[in-house]
Amino acid sequence: MQHFDVQVIGAGIVGKSLALSLSRLGLSVALRGTTAATARDDVRAYALNAASVDLLQRLKVWDTLGAGATTPVHDMVVRGDSSSGQVEFSSWEQRVGTLAVITDAGALERELDTALGFAPHVTRVDVDVAATLVAHCEGRGAASSLHALDAGFERSDYGQKAIAARLVSTLPHRQVARQWFRSPDVLALLPFDRPEAGHSYALVWSLPTERAEVLLAMAPAAFEAELVAAAGIEFGALRLGSERAAWPLVVGGAATWCGPGWVLVGDAAHLVHPLAGQGLNLGLADVVALSTVIADREAWRGVGDERLLRRYVRQRAAPTWAMTRITDGLLRLFAEPSAPIRELRNNGMSIVNRVAPLKRWLTARALDS
Ligand SMILES: Cc1cc2nc3c(=O)[nH]c(=O)nc-3n(C[C@H](O)[C@H](O)[C@H](O)COP(=O)(O)OP(=O)(O)OC[C@H]3O[C@@H](n4cnc5c(N)ncnc54)[C@H](O)[C@@H]3O)c2cc1C
Repeated sequence: MQHFDVQVIGAGIVGKSLALSLSRLGLSVALRGTTAATARDDVRAYALNAASVDLLQRLKVWDTLGAGATTPVHDMVVRGDSSSGQVEFSSWEQRVGTLAVITDAGALERELDTALGFAPHVTRVDVDVAATLVAHCEGRGAASSLHALDAGFERSDYGQKAIAARLVSTLPHRQVARQWFRSPDVLALLPFDRPEAGHSYALVWSLPTERAEVLLAMAPAAFEAELVAAAGIEFGALRLGSERAAWPLVVGGAATWCGPGWVLVGDAAHLVHPLAGQGLNLGLADVVALSTVIADREAWRGVGDERLLRRYVRQRAAPTWAMTRITDGLLRLFAEPSAPIRELRNNGMSIVNRVAPLKRWLTARALDS
């Protein structure tokens, strides 16, 4: 039986990116798992930061994504639940090229599959194989493997679902992303060029599960009316440009990210609420950190050496912890119904809006998670 340097379990975006990245170091990689048919037609579009785009460019999957698969965001408006609470971010003011690039999830999955077909050291397998290092990239499905590893994964359910879909508006999006903290739901419209260039949005609407179920069961016209009522009429008429899909929302993380011969990467290590659009960015930053640590290892050190893997964990633990706390804290702050807290959070937003260095700091954190 062939022995591999690394077995990557889980062929999501993180697992596939890790397999490609390690193969570029000359390591032999077994990638276990197939791309689900649902992933290839995923209605989500991810807000990717500059660091993620840089990795995907180096893996040679970015420039081939195709027309309309990526849309740059130049401005972002975040609104609270009163007319005074608003924060505006602009790429010009922040002195960055773009705030994020909205990226077609299905197109990225397909492009990674194509690249893997040409990767010289990657073998796709459907059973466990012998390997010096096992990288767990099973996403939120990792619970069973992690139980065996005793990684101490804790998760708690938000009692919410995120509804995602593509939308088409009668008015142009002008590359502006918009988000409303509506207490208790969080609504995001991300500018996108599919299905209609210049007029589409990727919707992410996080709501209490019961309300989400009601919205999912509605006929398209009734759902569209609810959406216009939530977003306001300034977007013109909004219509669905795809099916709706929904994900239950959880927050969680593993207490232990590595051990002798194993390591956790991406959602297998940490789960965050999608309100900041950072889950995949964190996972791709894990890929960069793990690949770099492996590339820079001493000549005598094996890839499964726990001391080596701990270097990766040390790099990733703090930013992941911070992002989890920020997203969780924001969600809880805006779920609080009392009037004084409401006033406080909306005043807080207008203060942030006026303090340019604070906005720059927040943008820098989001661009490089
Ligand atoms: C509505 C929504 C919107 C989001 N928007 C954003 C965004 O804008 N920006 C952002 O950065 N993030 C976003 N995220 C988060 C992002 O989707 C996840 O962080 C990311 O998909 C995690 O990738 P992954 O490869 O780690 O896990 P997954 O995508 O879950 O992939 C895991 C893979 O492993 C497979 N698998 C599971 N168990 C096994 C097993 N035992 N053996 C083999 N294979 C297995 C699964 O089938 C799957 O293919 C969003 C999430 C949601 C729900």
